[in-house]
Amino acid sequence: MSDRILKLNYDSPSEIRALLEMMGLGPRKRWGQNFLINSGARERIVGLLDVRPDSVVWEIGPGLGSLTSLLVRQTSRLTLFEIDPGYCEYLQMAYEKENPEIVEGDVIKTWKSRFSAEAPDRIIGNLPYNAASAIISDFIENDSIPERMVYTVQQEMGDRMKAAPGTKNYSSFSILCQFGCRVIDRGVLNAGSFYPAPRVSSKVMEMVPLDRGNRVKDRDLFFRLVRDMFISRRKTLRNNIAAAASARFQHLGKEILSQAFVDEGIKLETRPERISVDEYIAVANRLAGQGC
Ligand code: SAM
Repeated sequence: MSDRILKLNYDSPSEIRALLEMMGLGPRKRWGQNFLINSGARERIVGLLDVRPDSVVWEIGPGLGSLTSLLVRQTSRLTLFEIDPGYCEYLQMAYEKENPEIVEGDVIKTWKSRFSAEAPDRIIGNLPYNAASAIISDFIENDSIPERMVYTVQQEMGDRMKAAPGTKNYSSFSILCQFGCRVIDRGVLNAGSFYPAPRVSSKVMEMVPLDRGNRVKDRDLFFRLVRDMFISRRKTLRNNIAAAASARFQHLGKEILSQAFVDEGIKLETRPERISVDEYIAVANRLAGQGC
């Protein structure tokens, strides 16, 4: 492969297009393949990750390597998780000298075995839109939160990650993101920063761990409780408790579930989106160990 192609100009849609054509690849919608063609944004995003020379860094969805090109200069302990075999092949050639580890496949299926070998201190990813929340949730739910994560996600999803109780974007995903992390909104990236340009803008979101997560006695129960209370967002806790008590919380029942909220001073007429992360933690902790 010619040197020109291996030294891809990541800001040039025509070079990216030519490379993809040459390799018989395409920007595939189903894998959310939109390349970041804004060098200023790339510098800023990687700068937020605050990589040290000995940092163990994971990049999710490196694509053709636009962020990778900066990361390889900052650490030699870099692992790339990429689902597209054609992109993995390109990355192997383009970064032969730096030789980052490349893990081919769906990151949700591959990361755990790498984690047990060596946990990362940093995770970065310009995430595929359709899988972004599943990827972020998977790390959090499995209690695998590194010192810092920097993600580019759809703007609306970034807003949900950071939303405060009582606002329209506050959801079970907001609580999942905020119970263990401080979520920092690092600003909007407009659609023109990507090739092909997506229909909506993106946001850069930074996440750093909070010790609030350690206060949760039973993480599985906490996640189930939050999800079940948001099953019908427009309904009151009373309704959602009744539904939960006849499904996943059958072992506890309506009375015990309701009492845990009441004991925290929360009225059952309240809507789930009005309850803070700390209140959900307190209720879940009251329920932990009951009904076993
Ligand atoms: N990092 C590159 C950039 O910024 O130019 C590409 C970002 S593109 C939005 C998302 C990347 O994630 C694509 O390379 C896509 O193939 C990859 N991807 C999609 N789903 C994935 C998954 N489940 N696991 C790993 N990689 C995935």
